[in-house]
Amino acid sequence: MTPKPALKAAAKPRNETVQDTAAAQDADARLYQAIFDGVLNHRLTPGTKLPEPELCQLFGVGRAVVRRVLEKLAYDGIVALRPNKGAVIAEPTAEETREIFEARRSMERVLVELAVQRATAHDIKALRRQLADEHEAMHRFDQPSWARLASDFHLRIAALGGNSILQRYLTELVSRCSLIVGVYEPPGHAPCEHEEHAAIVDCIEARDAAGAVTRMEAHLRELEERIETSRMLGEKSLGQLLGMS
Ligand SMILES: [Zn+2]
Ligand SMILES: [Zn+2]
Repeated sequence: MTPKPALKAAAKPRNETVQDTAAAQDADARLYQAIFDGVLNHRLTPGTKLPEPELCQLFGVGRAVVRRVLEKLAYDGIVALRPNKGAVIAEPTAEETREIFEARRSMERVLVELAVQRATAHDIKALRRQLADEHEAMHRFDQPSWARLASDFHLRIAALGGNSILQRYLTELVSRCSLIVGVYEPPGHAPCEHEEHAAIVDCIEARDAAGAVTRMEAHLRELEERIETSRMLGEKSLGQLLGMS
């Protein structure tokens, strides 16, 4: 009989210190990031198995850490947990993709409008500086971290909206979008979004809410259009599966 996971996770060392907690959070973040980046880098493709014992060994962490991180990844839509079979990288469908982008557009419309109302001159200056840094890093690193850098811009706008509830929802949607973009955007075609982002900041600065909303929507629609839903599982032709078309 194997011990119940809940009991195992609860069995913490008797005199756990603040340091232990910080170390545990570190291990969690490291594992989460490694898997997330693996997806963005196209190294981990949908359906890839993530066996617990291997993750424990590779990252030198205990089962409790691995389970906690896999649960968080599942919550964020990056991983699917299958009863009795373990975790795999999620396989977003065309339908899910449509829903996620639709939800993201409606959320970002509101958030950018709030940002127009609430961003101070100082915020806008910081936003521009950040945007320049992200742009520079994107071209310097080329592929690996571009998706995260591009997402950061949207999360910053959300923060300027000054509504922590909407911000939290958007964070979830953005990470699920990153997975879809990472998996289904043809590799090597990561476009530079800098111009489109800069135009949105211009509208925020000009306090042009209608302009900001229109540009944000157009930007998100373009992002969605680049996704090759034809590459999604269950939608491939036999010829594609055999590599003949
Ligand atoms: Zn963008
Ligand atoms: Zn560029």
